[in-house]
Amino acid sequence: MANPKAKNAKNVEGSWFCTSPDDDGGEGCIACNVCYSNAPDFFAEDGDGNAYVHKQPESAADIQACQEQMDACPVSSIGNDG
Ligand code: SF4
Repeated sequence: MANPKAKNAKNVEGSWFCTSPDDDGGEGCIACNVCYSNAPDFFAEDGDGNAYVHKQPESAADIQACQEQMDACPVSSIGNDG
């Protein structure tokens, strides 16, 4: 489960987030590019290739797209604390 205390500072405000690679819990983004390649409407990469949420999902389809990336993330660095 993504650590809500280790959010990437670039996440836009809202319940969905990606975690920082500096997360001491070992759940930080490893810049694998899965989420921002598959759902670029919501996820983007920062200057280091690490992911952040640039747009929060609104519709059911949006949420489904983000949920799919959460499920696919190999290190559980996508979270939803809403
Ligand atoms: S899928 Fe996970 S590890 Fe890969 S870029 Fe996205 S947040 Fe980072």
